[in-house]
Amino acid sequence: MNTIIMGLPGAGKGTQAEQIVATYHIPHISTGDMFRAAMKNKTDLGLKAKEYMDNGELVPDEVTNGIVKDRLAQPDTKNGFLLDGYPRTLNQAKALEETMKEFGRSIDLVINIDVDPAILMDRLTGRIICSKCGATYHKLFNPPKEKGVCDRCGSTEFYQRDDDKPETVKNRIEVNTTQSAPIIEFYKNKGVLKTVNGAEDIDKVFGKIQDFFEETK
Ligand code: ADP
Ligand code: AMP
Repeated sequence: MNTIIMGLPGAGKGTQAEQIVATYHIPHISTGDMFRAAMKNKTDLGLKAKEYMDNGELVPDEVTNGIVKDRLAQPDTKNGFLLDGYPRTLNQAKALEETMKEFGRSIDLVINIDVDPAILMDRLTGRIICSKCGATYHKLFNPPKEKGVCDRCGSTEFYQRDDDKPETVKNRIEVNTTQSAPIIEFYKNKGVLKTVNGAEDIDKVFGKIQDFFEETK
């Protein structure tokens, strides 16, 4: 299944993506993760992305479209993929459409996690990530089962993303709110959009997403 998961920053895309890829065995392709890895390795791409990410702005489309196209050309995407955080502009959605056409494929399902922006500040400023395996938690809403120990890998080290500071979060939510409406419309018109209420519990949201996969098969 060729799938996209979309939603504002903090909607729960990464959290749901962890469960989706474990259940359906498709690669998780997160543009945010790709940019963060490039930043960590101080590559040209990372240096370019950093100035935008630090301010909560979007990395320019021509950069982002290129890395996604290269990633989708990899053989592990043959039986499907989950795109997370892409497309984020209408231009990116159209570029993805072109890439899919070129590869003789199409998008089967777009999962839209809908949340009231008012809850996102608390979600993002409380987000913690396992330093070893990347699993995502929330200090209050979704803490590890054993305090301070990652459920998935047992590590005791966690970090907070630089762009989860309140001042950056505010801009990220604004930028993404403006950009997302036309993308939702684009996929609605194609008949592939399914929306879930992201204010529900994590497991309930995942149950709904499993229904979407069943309905789309
Ligand atoms: P995104 O990838 O969309 O930016 P995340 O999956 O990282 O969002 O989730 C943002 C934060 O909100 C994390 O701290 C996560 O643990 C928490 N979270 C995710 N889904 C829910 C939910 N349904 N209810 C409460 N907290 C959630
Ligand atoms: P995320 O991890 O999805 O929250 O993304 C973190 C940051 O990476 C965003 O605030 C942007 O600066 C950048 N980014 C991620 N995906 C994209 C995209 N599709 N287009 C432009 N910028 C992106």
